[in-house]
Amino acid sequence: MRALHVVALIALLCATVEPRPAAQGGGARGGRGPGRGRAGEELVPTALLSERNLKPGDFPTLRSTTGYVYAWEDVHALGFLTNNLIVITSDGVLVADGQGTPEATKKMVDAIALLTPQPIKYVVVCSEHGDHTGGNDAFPATATFISSPLSQANLARQAKRVPTVTVADRRVLKMGDTEIQILNSGRSHTGGDLEVYLPREKVLFTSESFSSHIFPSMANAYPSEWIETVKKLQQIDATFVVPGHGFLDPVPNMTREMAEFEKALEYVVGEAGRVHQTGVAVEEGLKQVNWGPYAKWSMAERNGPPAFRRVYDELDGKLKN
Ligand SMILES: [Zn+2]
Repeated sequence: MRALHVVALIALLCATVEPRPAAQGGGARGGRGPGRGRAGEELVPTALLSERNLKPGDFPTLRSTTGYVYAWEDVHALGFLTNNLIVITSDGVLVADGQGTPEATKKMVDAIALLTPQPIKYVVVCSEHGDHTGGNDAFPATATFISSPLSQANLARQAKRVPTVTVADRRVLKMGDTEIQILNSGRSHTGGDLEVYLPREKVLFTSESFSSHIFPSMANAYPSEWIETVKKLQQIDATFVVPGHGFLDPVPNMTREMAEFEKALEYVVGEAGRVHQTGVAVEEGLKQVNWGPYAKWSMAERNGPPAFRRVYDELDGKLKN
């Protein structure tokens, strides 16, 4: 009975990874229902579920990039998706990032157990922020946590589960016959950002170095360095790009969206810099800033002011090195 239940659940999970006709997609849990989009289909440019006619109940979703590398998507309290990467090998499972609560991360851990008997061996903390680490206690106690040195120090201060392995530049793991590169491509959203790249599968998990169609969230960011980091990520030979937040759309869209995100970063840094150069003080400058086309991006009202202040801080030499 239990075996049957597991098979049925696996069928359900696998069913979510295949595009299906819109007419059938609507009611299926996690399926590509209305607004989910198939190749060539016009997609609403947004990160918000509500603007694509999706509901929180449509998630979490497990999506396959190859037969053993998956993206896990679940809903952030602010109405967009938080994405994680799952790599299943014959030598254990690697997960990059978790969800914001133990309940949400446990759902992913349970789904992994339905896909493979292999244990979760590594958890890579690509973003130290709570919406990606708040559920880390749901990962098995035996898993080795990996992060940048900066995130290790910050997580230790917060008394969260502290990574024991750090990546200051790049580290290559060989699990079974799968090569997994953990990249520290420079400071971007948190300052301790990491990415995960699978060269054979051409899968790149950017975590929060790239969030699709979300106005750049810069409260803890290194604005001008972030642009350089995204430029570097775009040089990587990746077919499947999985962002830290936002929709995972058909393959060509994601490469385009990462380029769009770089343009958004450049615009925000450029525009805040322009206002700064006029000599106006930060709060007064906020009334003058013009975010142009990015004023329509998801979370612009919430993320705009902190981004503006952060660029000011950078230009005023107030960001610590
Ligand atoms: Zn986040």
